[in-house]
Amino acid sequence: MTSVAIAVMAGLAVAQLATLVTTVYLHRTLAHRALTLSPKLMWLLRILTWTTTGIRPRQWVAVHRKHHAFTDVEGDPHSPLLEGFAMVQFANVALYRRVAADKAVVRRYAKDLPTDRWDRLFFDHAIPGLAIGIAVMVFFLGFWPGLLAAGIHTVTYLLLNAAVNAVGHYFGIQPQSNTAHNSQLLALVTMGEGLHNNHHAAPTSARFSLHRGEFDPGWWVVRMLERLRWAKVRHHEVKLKQPAAA
Ligand SMILES: [Zn+2]
Ligand SMILES: [Zn+2]
Repeated sequence: MTSVAIAVMAGLAVAQLATLVTTVYLHRTLAHRALTLSPKLMWLLRILTWTTTGIRPRQWVAVHRKHHAFTDVEGDPHSPLLEGFAMVQFANVALYRRVAADKAVVRRYAKDLPTDRWDRLFFDHAIPGLAIGIAVMVFFLGFWPGLLAAGIHTVTYLLLNAAVNAVGHYFGIQPQSNTAHNSQLLALVTMGEGLHNNHHAAPTSARFSLHRGEFDPGWWVVRMLERLRWAKVRHHEVKLKQPAAA
C-alpha cells in the first residue's frame, strides 16, 4: 500500500476515533449524564479530546445544552432551519465559536464543569493539544503522510460533526414528535449521532437506537465499556421526553 493510501486510512480512522470520543464522552457522558465513566477512562477521554479535537469540554457542553434548550427556535446555536442548511453544514465551527466564546452562556449551561488546574495548565490550550495529536501522526507515518492524515482527520471530523447539527435537523425520518431527524446512514459514520430524532426524544438515554432495525455503534461501545465495568449507564429503559407521534 502506498504511503498516501495509508495516510488517508489513518486520517479517516482518527476522525472516527474523535467522533467516538465526542459522542461517548462529550455528548452522552458530560452533556447529558446518560452514563458515568471510571476515573481512568475519563482521563483517557479528556486527553483524547484535547489531542484529536482541541475542544474544551465545558464549552462544547454549554453550546450543546443551549441547543437542547432552544431547539430550532431563536437562541439555538446552530439550527439549519434558522441559519440555512449550508451555513450549519459548512460553517458550523464559526457558529459554535460564537456561542462557545460567550462566558455567560458557558457559566449558565456548564456550571457542573468548573475549570480545574489541569485545564489551566493543559486542556484549555487547544493549540498544544492539537500539535501533540499531529506530532503522533507524523511520528508513526512520516512527515508528509502524517500532515496529510492530520488534514484528512480535521476536515472529516468537522464535516461529520456539522452533519449531526445540519442533516440531523433537516433530512431523514421523524418517528418521534420533535424537529430533529433520524438518518441511519449518518448514524453509521457518526457513531450513532445520526439517530438525532431519537436523541431529542430521549436525551438522557445512553442508547440512541429506539426502534427495530436501527444501529447505534456508539451504544455498542458503551455496552462493551459497561461489561468491562468502565462505564455505568444511568437508566437502561428509554425515558421519552415527549409522547411519540401518533
Ligand atoms: Zn439537535
Ligand atoms: Zn444532546
